[in-house]
Amino acid sequence: MKLDAKALRYLTSEDFRVLQGVEAGSRNHEVVPTPLISQLSGLRGGSGVHRSISNLAKTNLIAKVKNAKYDGYRLTYGGLDYLALNAHQKQKVVYSVGNQIGVGKESDIVVVAHSSGSQRILKIHRLGRISFRTVKTNRDYLRHRNSGSWMYMSRLAAMKEFAFMKALRENGFNVPEPIAQNRHTIVMELIDAFPLRQISKVPHPEALYSELMDIILELARFGLIHGDFNEFNILIKEISDPSGKGKAAVDAEESDENVRLEPVIIDFPQMVSIDHVNAEMYFDRDVNCIKRYFQRKFHFVSDAPGPFFTDAKKNFMKNPGKRLDVEVEASGFSRKMARELETYMKEVGADGDAGAARDDLNDEEDDDDEEGSEEEEEEEDEEQEQAGQSSADVDESSKRLETLQV
Ligand code: ADP
Ligand code: MG
Repeated sequence: MKLDAKALRYLTSEDFRVLQGVEAGSRNHEVVPTPLISQLSGLRGGSGVHRSISNLAKTNLIAKVKNAKYDGYRLTYGGLDYLALNAHQKQKVVYSVGNQIGVGKESDIVVVAHSSGSQRILKIHRLGRISFRTVKTNRDYLRHRNSGSWMYMSRLAAMKEFAFMKALRENGFNVPEPIAQNRHTIVMELIDAFPLRQISKVPHPEALYSELMDIILELARFGLIHGDFNEFNILIKEISDPSGKGKAAVDAEESDENVRLEPVIIDFPQMVSIDHVNAEMYFDRDVNCIKRYFQRKFHFVSDAPGPFFTDAKKNFMKNPGKRLDVEVEASGFSRKMARELETYMKEVGADGDAGAARDDLNDEEDDDDEEGSEEEEEEEDEEQEQAGQSSADVDESSKRLETLQV
């Protein structure tokens, strides 16, 4: 589902009140009856409300539903997007909307801009979006559920991601600066970098590898396991380092000896506490994801075994950082919410990028061809195109920003 901000500037404040009315009604009605929409929008009934309803339905922000008992409307993802964007715009967090640069299984990533012109990232969580791999389970599951739950669950995912990003950032981790959260969306700093997945050459893989393992251990020392630590969720920033002492300097042959590669970690809806019942499994999965990726992509295998969960846990007991799992809980993303979100994500088959990355690796596990087959490379190119985002794309998108309001 693509974000199309074009109609946003044509909506009146009445339209927004009606849209909010449908949103409020959706909390306990699968189909919101028209009289209730009028009542909840706080507008005096009559032609105004009906005009707004018809405007909103025409632009697909609400959808008409014929129910056995009564007719009414339900909010669409598009409608929820507009409510969130409108709130960000009112709070002066977002001024204009640019290109969509990523479509994940569970989110859309859009470049937006502040009125100063500085670019930001809007991440829209779309948890109800059905993964085709689990269509059957989804269907069975969703049939017994209020269809409004996608809205609530996507909001939980956004709340969780924002809370963790904030706690991590405040404690010195290299993550994008979180700027705002509204409904199922967050606005954060744009990192001008490629995901590791798109970096074809790293001259000193051992340095980058050990830096990534250190991050996994440092997270554990603060009570956390990322849960989806893989080549899509690690952005590699190239920092020019005139001293030339960069640990992981880029290929010398390209005379970029003085560029340091700096990993920035993103994507936190699957983060778990080090006390989680399956903590060890998540920890090992994160570690193994990196191990296998480095082996396959850079032909690098570390001499050192591990890191192991037991050691990470020992270090966490002996020399703990602030408990960020506890801090996040205290900040409003409660344990109950965490449990609800986790259950839902499991049941709808939301397994993050790691799921894709793991399938990818499993398919190729037996293939120890040094260079990889042609087919494989082609497939990779295609994926790279889909996966991302280059700094060139970002520059380009700035020229095509859609101003939200006239
Ligand atoms: P998902 O949960 O769908 O995997 P991510 O948060 O991992 O969503 O974002 C998907 C992709 O969008 C990333 O792999 C990256 O290419 C891009 N991206 C996400 N956040 C940022 C950011 N702050 N700056 C630059 N690119 C980003
Ligand atoms: Mg991701």
